[in-house]
Amino acid sequence: MSRIVYVNGTYLPDEQATISIFDRGFLFADGVYEVTSVLDGKLIDFDGHATRLQRSLSELDMNTPVTMETLLEINRELVARNDITDGLVYLQITRGAAADRDFAFPDPDTPPTIVLFTQNKPGLADSPAAKTGIKVISIEDQRWGRRDIKTVQLLYPSMGKMMAKAAGADDAWMVEDGAVTEGTSNNAYIVKGNTIITRQLSHDILHGITRAAVLRFAREAQMKVEERAFTVEEAKAADEAFVTSASSFVMPVVEMDDAPIGTGTPGPVAARLREIYLEESRKTAI
Ligand code: PMP
Repeated sequence: MSRIVYVNGTYLPDEQATISIFDRGFLFADGVYEVTSVLDGKLIDFDGHATRLQRSLSELDMNTPVTMETLLEINRELVARNDITDGLVYLQITRGAAADRDFAFPDPDTPPTIVLFTQNKPGLADSPAAKTGIKVISIEDQRWGRRDIKTVQLLYPSMGKMMAKAAGADDAWMVEDGAVTEGTSNNAYIVKGNTIITRQLSHDILHGITRAAVLRFAREAQMKVEERAFTVEEAKAADEAFVTSASSFVMPVVEMDDAPIGTGTPGPVAARLREIYLEESRKTAI
């Protein structure tokens, strides 16, 4: 069975889906995206992702092609049509296709391009990596200065994943002025004593939807949270470390640059937060 995707108002098999060669997402990376996870056939943190999408679009003066209600309907329809129990829904919106290639933005009436597709990931919440933890390397953060906007400019994160792979690791933590910004596709945390430390929100990092939920649950569980930049040295000397994202939830990090973090095994804070996050977010899934 081929995958059914959504392109500009139409549901169709992925091999029949097309967009223009003049699409600005293709020519200029002029587009934004969102990733929402699906557990037990329901969308996790949908409102958070929809709200961030609207913010990304508005920061780039882009039109929102659908209402949030319609967006929810499209998400549900794709989950149903592709029979997704556990998986991911990707949404991409670009500034559309102008008549020709031009750096200047096209007429604001140019219809945006909207594409949604699913990925089937059976057992998404039972990933074996959550039991073993992942290994990261540190690399220089060479991205642009508006990382709070979730744009489709993912070349550097993609290169970071390749650098990690070449080094025998799973992912990379990006570093600017000696301090960790975030992972290539996740927010980064360390735990020292009884304190969870993660970089404060700014233009330097993506405002993770999972991050917001996890910090709220941590505070509700009386855990101590410090939102501040931390250095690579602090990370290496931490008791434990982890990352959060819509696709990995809370994932322990057990090694950095070939050195173990803490005991070199997943720590209790990450394990507890993963448990709470999965439990609570399943309750509010729609
Ligand atoms: N930072 C970056 C750079 C990311 O790409 C992602 C994943 N989209 C995140 C953080 C985590 O964000 P979220 O929890 O909303 O998936």
